[in-house]
Amino acid sequence: MTDWLDWPFFEPRHRELAERLEQWCRETIHDAEASDPDAACRALVREMGKAGFLKLCVADGGKAPEVRSLAIARATLARVHGLADFAFAMQGLGSGAVSLFGSEEQKAEWLPKVASGDAIAAYALTEPEAGSDAANIAMSARRDSDSWVLNGEKSYISNGTIADVLTVFARTGSAEDGARGISAFIVRGDDTGLSVAERIEVIAPHPLARLRFDGVRAELLGIEGDGFKVAMQTLNLFRVTVGAAALGFARRALDEALKFATKRKLGNGTLADNAVTQEKLAEMALAIDASALLIARAAWQQDRGKADNRRAAAMAKLHATDEAQKVIDMAVQMHGGLGVTKGAKVEELYRETRSLRIYEGASEVQKMIIARDLLKEHGA
Ligand SMILES: Cc1cc2nc3c(=O)[nH]c(=O)nc-3n(C[C@H](O)[C@H](O)[C@H](O)COP(=O)(O)OP(=O)(O)OC[C@H]3O[C@@H](n4cnc5c(N)ncnc54)[C@H](O)[C@@H]3O)c2cc1C
Repeated sequence: MTDWLDWPFFEPRHRELAERLEQWCRETIHDAEASDPDAACRALVREMGKAGFLKLCVADGGKAPEVRSLAIARATLARVHGLADFAFAMQGLGSGAVSLFGSEEQKAEWLPKVASGDAIAAYALTEPEAGSDAANIAMSARRDSDSWVLNGEKSYISNGTIADVLTVFARTGSAEDGARGISAFIVRGDDTGLSVAERIEVIAPHPLARLRFDGVRAELLGIEGDGFKVAMQTLNLFRVTVGAAALGFARRALDEALKFATKRKLGNGTLADNAVTQEKLAEMALAIDASALLIARAAWQQDRGKADNRRAAAMAKLHATDEAQKVIDMAVQMHGGLGVTKGAKVEELYRETRSLRIYEGASEVQKMIIARDLLKEHGA
């Protein structure tokens, strides 16, 4: 489904990217949930690296990753396979701080490996006692000659069980310093002080873990005390793309709904002949196009270098993730009993999309960003 790529926000190369990815998905991806998400994720990263798609996730010379390409890639992958989208997205989020704030040496060491699929990346901000309230993280960082030592815990870390490199946020100042006392670090996945304290099983299986840091060696990333800014700017870069993943899930749900409704017998016709079903289909299509427009606008503005794109990005993430949930729910409802049966694609989509309204800024946080930006503009 590449129609949206004809909109003026996109260029011919974006359509080519979507077509190449669709072809790659057809050839490489088996449309079923993996029984071993760690192994499946590793394999997907390797394959995407080999095919060259992971280059989109990292800085190219001095240029940050392009948001439109990331969004197109995520919408395309999510439509086919949730874990493939996850594997792609985490290479970007996990290395994003290195792309944006790393030294030339740090970029040279990690970005080529992330882009080739030789290193799996993770982003570790959340802690058991600090999620949305990220300025309150407690993990400690202590200087030790020319490196740093980290102690504490991180929870809900995507790729936590398989990461080769992690961007970790820890406290170099006191608790009273709040956001100003946080710094960003690079940690190697094979550090002996780093361990998986708990594998976290969520409704859609992904490699997810609570991690224990016991004297882990870390390298400062960016300027000491700038960690909160590093964390937020990295999330800002990828925020629109979370909406794009939701868009991919919602589009797949509509595909499945159309396929089912036009085949399923109801009275003398099919489910699709029924006016109530048609109303649902119309609502689904409308929600999807509105999300796509918000995503395209936000991504285009960000790529043009709009200094403050927070409101547009928050709107795109909020609308696309909330609406995807509704669209998928309508598709499940339309499928009847089959919709809640394991193995049905819409059942998988129903579980797969749920976390998107929670991570990288819950829907409530996006509303706060939008409202604060509005109030600021109006001098409040
Ligand atoms: C599948 C998955 C993958 C994840 N991957 C990562 C990862 O790779 N790296 C990482 O660092 N973290 C990751 N997270 C953690 C995620 O970012 C946090 O779960 C999220 O920030 C919310 O934090 P919390 O769970 O502590 O909820 P809390 O912060 O306790 O919030 C609970 C709920 O309160 C509401 N809320 C929060 N703030 C406000 C507010 N200001 N106003 C009104 N209501 C509010 C929201 O509904 C929120 O869901 C992941 C989470 C999931 C589920």
